[in-house]
Amino acid sequence: MNELRKDCIIDRWVIIAENRGKRPKDFIQKECEVKEGTCVFCPGNEHLTPKEILSIKGPHGWTVRGFENMYPATSLEFPQAFGRHEVIVEMNQHNKNLQDLAVGAIREVIDMYCSRIDDISKIDGIAYVLIFKNHGDAAGTSIVHEHSQLIALAQVPTLVEKELCAYRKYHDKTKKCIFCDIVAMELASERKIFENEHFACFAPFASRFSFEAWLLPKRHVGNITDLTDEEKNSLAESLKKILTALSKLLHNPPYNYYLHIAPPQEDFHFHIEICPRVTKLAGFELGSEIIINTMPPEKAAAELRALSL
Ligand SMILES: [Zn+2]
Ligand SMILES: [Zn+2]
Ligand SMILES: [Zn+2]
Repeated sequence: MNELRKDCIIDRWVIIAENRGKRPKDFIQKECEVKEGTCVFCPGNEHLTPKEILSIKGPHGWTVRGFENMYPATSLEFPQAFGRHEVIVEMNQHNKNLQDLAVGAIREVIDMYCSRIDDISKIDGIAYVLIFKNHGDAAGTSIVHEHSQLIALAQVPTLVEKELCAYRKYHDKTKKCIFCDIVAMELASERKIFENEHFACFAPFASRFSFEAWLLPKRHVGNITDLTDEEKNSLAESLKKILTALSKLLHNPPYNYYLHIAPPQEDFHFHIEICPRVTKLAGFELGSEIIINTMPPEKAAAELRALSL
């Protein structure tokens, strides 16, 4: 039976449309294609990108590389759209996906995220740094070479602000963290996908996207930059695991993920929301802000768990 569900944190609704009885294979899209021609993110073409801001170096040159976006949405030079807009190239290979990298190499990407968050947060007038990833056409990128982006703003983005408000309200009432409570609840629920020593991965109760997955540290920690060394390794391992599972099940699907960190001086619980983009938003979704999801999260989690990675 279909079910209208409210998100556990914010005032957001989805219709879980179980009656359509879809299977994972019904969500498989055309695999992301490798396009020929010059790739500006490949080693040797560094001169085609804006000036390097920071890179992590290995024995054979850079392994992770950051620079300002060629067409920034926000900039320190735009008084009316103040911020930063950067690209983080996640690897020096063209035809690999993030989950194909060794855990240690994914850890380097995480270290790069942390360095950029640390640096940019110190700039006067910056209120928030949002790191996100678009993988595949349907998720908003045409460059196949794996990369993340970062947009820093002079204000806290609306979605984070909503989560923060809900966080504070719950805390005032119960003296507890809503995210810590959700982790405890979901690790014992049929929506659990996996856990390791420091991270929990589950399909959220009111998943907007088919096979949506959230990653949260088990310890209450506000920012990815505050994770311990061991926790960062655990995060790299978790990212590899969930992205591999999604790729196996849905044949390298388009997806977005984004990091929700605490704004400076705020208490919050850091998390990553991973959203496969295997269905399209249509008129009802745009007009109502209610999303119809034809893959119940309980079933999605069971399919992902069954891969027993
Ligand atoms: Zn490339
Ligand atoms: Zn917490
Ligand atoms: Zn969030």
